[in-house]
Amino acid sequence: MSTEVVATSAISAEQQPSPSAPAQEKVNLLGMSRPQMEKFFEDMGEKKFRAGQVMKWIHQFFVTDFAQMTNISGKLREKLEKLCVIEAPEVVHKNYSKDGTRKWVFRVGDGDGSLVETVLIPAEHRSGLRRTLCISSQVGCALDCSFCSTGKQGFQRDLTQAEIIGQLWMANYSYMEDVPVLERERSVTNVVMMGMGEPLLNYDAVLNSMRIMLDDFAYGMSKRRVTLSTSGVVPKIDQLVKDIDVALAISLHAPNDELRNELVPINKKYPLEQLIAACQRYIAKDGNESSRKHVTIEYVMLDGVNDHPEHAQQMIKLLKNLPSKINLIPFNPFPHAPYGRSSRNRIISFQKTLSDAGFVCTIRQTRGDDIDAACGQLVGQVADRTRRAEQWKKKIAQSNEIMRSQG
Ligand code: SAH
Ligand code: SF4
Repeated sequence: MSTEVVATSAISAEQQPSPSAPAQEKVNLLGMSRPQMEKFFEDMGEKKFRAGQVMKWIHQFFVTDFAQMTNISGKLREKLEKLCVIEAPEVVHKNYSKDGTRKWVFRVGDGDGSLVETVLIPAEHRSGLRRTLCISSQVGCALDCSFCSTGKQGFQRDLTQAEIIGQLWMANYSYMEDVPVLERERSVTNVVMMGMGEPLLNYDAVLNSMRIMLDDFAYGMSKRRVTLSTSGVVPKIDQLVKDIDVALAISLHAPNDELRNELVPINKKYPLEQLIAACQRYIAKDGNESSRKHVTIEYVMLDGVNDHPEHAQQMIKLLKNLPSKINLIPFNPFPHAPYGRSSRNRIISFQKTLSDAGFVCTIRQTRGDDIDAACGQLVGQVADRTRRAEQWKKKIAQSNEIMRSQG
């Protein structure tokens, strides 16, 4: 890895921005969408506009202490302190690289040891600096795609709304920790739901979290800058069109059913014909919705498996009536993976075939394997890494002990 770790630490409870008071019976306001919070205030006998005020404090000024919410009366602040918390998931490791990439490992749930990783990748873009955050939606994944280390872990549990939005909150907060509250700004410009898990199988929590991302009282992100990636849960794609307007990415990975059944097993339930038809329904008819002018097609390049010239030809046929942009992803290997990464030459000639046929086709930048793991293969190695970090700490403690005993 070419990057330099400037901070890797287990964060103690005192360093957490969230209150350390027992939270079990208190309501966590962090993950509430505006309608949910409005209802919460109304049920408390308060005015619903309070929801917008509190959301701004939480998501725009990164305040977790009700005492700092100066436009809210002392009486209401006291009430909120008694009933609520604003609590992001616990950060167990963080790693800020010299090249700007930031990673966090969160522990989710009550000490069940489940870990999820979130990665932020900066990139220069014509419109300025982009900071893209890759967010997880589940611990593990039930869909068992054959090239995915998350799938190999099986499904553990869905993330809650607070755990999903908490990843975005923490990434933004990490830039603003030392900035006076009223001068704080939002730093993350783009979100991709491409971390661990299948977002459409944790539908409600993901939907409400994306609503918070788009809400002007929270992150106010543009709908083109929030992308949901799915392996193709067809009925939920149709549901998504009705519920929210965000960008859609499809994990295609194979241009025919036979191969896709093998690589992306959910294809047996929703084969390509159905998937492509759902994508066509997703494209906005009036062309006004800029987030829905095309879908992004993700295609992981597996050496000798899906990277033959005839696969590129099949892609051209399959996608001919679907406005799409294709992103070729060099396979990111993991221990015991049954595949290898296609050679650079092979990826480039695959890209050329698609570009010559008129498709916009890009190759995902690889910035060292560790960074590359950012999206799609997030947490497979986190448990390992965490274990390694613990072993490392033990080793240091042992060597300190030896040095002490040697006087
Ligand atoms: N479950 C969703 C979102 C998470 S995966 C989905 O499948 O779309 C995000 C992207 O990373 C997907 O396109 C996924 O197929 C891809 N991916 C998974 N494992 C990978 C690996 N080992 N190397 C490269 N890309 C991978
Ligand atoms: Fe799940 Fe996506 Fe991995 Fe498939 S690629 S196992 S859907 S996380």
